[in-house]
Amino acid sequence: MAAHHKARPLKSNSPRPAKQLCSECGLCDTSYIHYVKEACAFLHQQFDALETQTHGRQRTLANENECYFGVHETMVAARKKQPIPGAQWTGIVTTIAIKMLNAGWVEGVVCVQNTPEDRFQPRPVLARTAADIFAARVNKPTLSPNLNLLDEIERSGLRRLLVIGVGCQIQALRAVQKHLGLEELYVLGTPCVDNVTRAGLQKFLETTSRSPQTVVHYEFMQDYQVHFKHEDGSVEKVPFFGLNTRELKDIFAPSCLSCFDYVNGLADLVVGYMGAPLGWQWLVVRNERGQGMLDLVRDELEMQPVTSQGQRHQAVQQSIPAYDQGVTLPMWAARWMGVVIEKLGPKGLEYARFSIDSHFTRNYLYVRRHYPQKLASHVPEFAKKIVSQYRLPKD
Ligand code: FAD
Ligand code: SF4
Ligand code: SF4
Repeated sequence: MAAHHKARPLKSNSPRPAKQLCSECGLCDTSYIHYVKEACAFLHQQFDALETQTHGRQRTLANENECYFGVHETMVAARKKQPIPGAQWTGIVTTIAIKMLNAGWVEGVVCVQNTPEDRFQPRPVLARTAADIFAARVNKPTLSPNLNLLDEIERSGLRRLLVIGVGCQIQALRAVQKHLGLEELYVLGTPCVDNVTRAGLQKFLETTSRSPQTVVHYEFMQDYQVHFKHEDGSVEKVPFFGLNTRELKDIFAPSCLSCFDYVNGLADLVVGYMGAPLGWQWLVVRNERGQGMLDLVRDELEMQPVTSQGQRHQAVQQSIPAYDQGVTLPMWAARWMGVVIEKLGPKGLEYARFSIDSHFTRNYLYVRRHYPQKLASHVPEFAKKIVSQYRLPKD
C-alpha cells in the first residue's frame, strides 16, 4: 500500500534547494518540497534505482542502443496519417493523451498550455477534457513547472493519471509517485535538451530569427538547421553552424547544461523526432505500459522501422573545441557546412547519437568546471561511458 502523503499549506517564496541548478520542475512549489533532497534530479541522481522501479531493470550499458536511448522494448518512426494542425510535429502526443482520456484509461492529464498573453509562457494544467489537452498542443520551449500540480492532483482524488513531461520533471515525479495515492500512473515523455528561461528564449529569438515577434514554433532539425515557423506560415531556416554560440552560450539554463536525461529514461513511452527521418516522429517504447499507449493509437499512424546511417564520431570530436571556444562561422560557410554534413553525415539513430554525444560532452565539461564536487555522483554511468569516447580539453 502506497504511503499517502498529506498536503500541507505552502509557504510563499519557497526555497529552491538545487539553487542555480534548479530547472523549475515545480515540485518545490508544493508541499512535496518535503521530499526534495531525495527527489530533485539535481540533488540526487538515481537513474539506476528509478529505472529498476519503473521498468524492472536498469539499462544495459553493453548494448549501445540501450546505453544511448535507455531501457526499451522497441523503437519506431511514425507520423499521424492526419496531422493535428498547430501541434509541434504531427501531434502524436496530443492524440495519445486524448485517446487515453476518452477510453477511460485515465481521469486526468498533466500537460502544458500557455498563458493568454504569451504563447511561449508555460502554464501546466491538470486537463480533464479532450479540449483542455488539445489546447496544450505544441511545445512551450521554456522551463515549465509541471509538478506544481502535485497538491492539486492529490486533492482532486484522481486515481488514474497521465503525466506528459520532460526528463527532469519525470525524475522527480518517479521519486515521489508512491506518495500520490494513485492506482495507475502513465508517463508520456518527450526528449528535451537546451531548455531556457522565458528571458533566455527572448534572447535566442532576437539573436537568431529575422522576425522574433512572429515566431510561433521552432525546432532544431535533423537537417542541421533551426526551422522557425512564423505567423504567416513561412519557414525560416538558420544553420546550426552559423548560430552565434558566443552570445548564446549562457542563455541555456544551468540545469540544462548539467542534464543527462535527454531521452527521458523514466517515461513509459517517449515521443520525439531526432532518431527518425525528417518529418517523422521517433517513438521509444520503454515497457509494456508504453506499448499499450502506442497500441491505442496505432490505427491513426503510419509507421516505418528506425534506421541508422553515417558516422558521428569525427564530427562530434571536432565540435567540442569549436563549441568550447564559442566559434561562429560566417553564414555562407555555415550553410555550406550544413549542406555537406546533411549529405554525408549521420542520419536516423546515428543523428540521435550525434546530438546526444555533442550535448553530453558539453554538459560534462560544464559540470566539471562549475560543480567539480558533484561530477562523480551527478553524471550517470551511461553518460560517463558515452563521454569517455572523446578527448576533452584539459582546462
Ligand atoms: P504535441 O501533440 O504538439 O504535444 C506537445 C506536448 O508537449 C503537449 O502535450 C504539452 O503538454 C507538452 N509540453 C509543451 N511544452 C512543454 C514543456 N516546456 N515542458 C514539458 N512539456 C511540455 N525531441 C527530440 O527528438 N529532440 C530534442 O532535442 C527535443 N527537444 C525538446 C525540448 C523541449 C523543451 C520540449 C518540450 C520537447 C522537445 N522535444 C525534442 C520533443 C519534440 O519537440 C516534440 O515535443 C515531440 O516530438 C512531440 O511532438 P507532437 O507533435 O507529438 O506534440
Ligand atoms: Fe525543486 Fe524541482 Fe528546482 Fe529541484 S528542480 S530544486 S525539485 S523545483
Ligand atoms: Fe529538464 Fe534536462 Fe530539459 Fe533542462 S534539458 S528542462 S534539465 S529535461
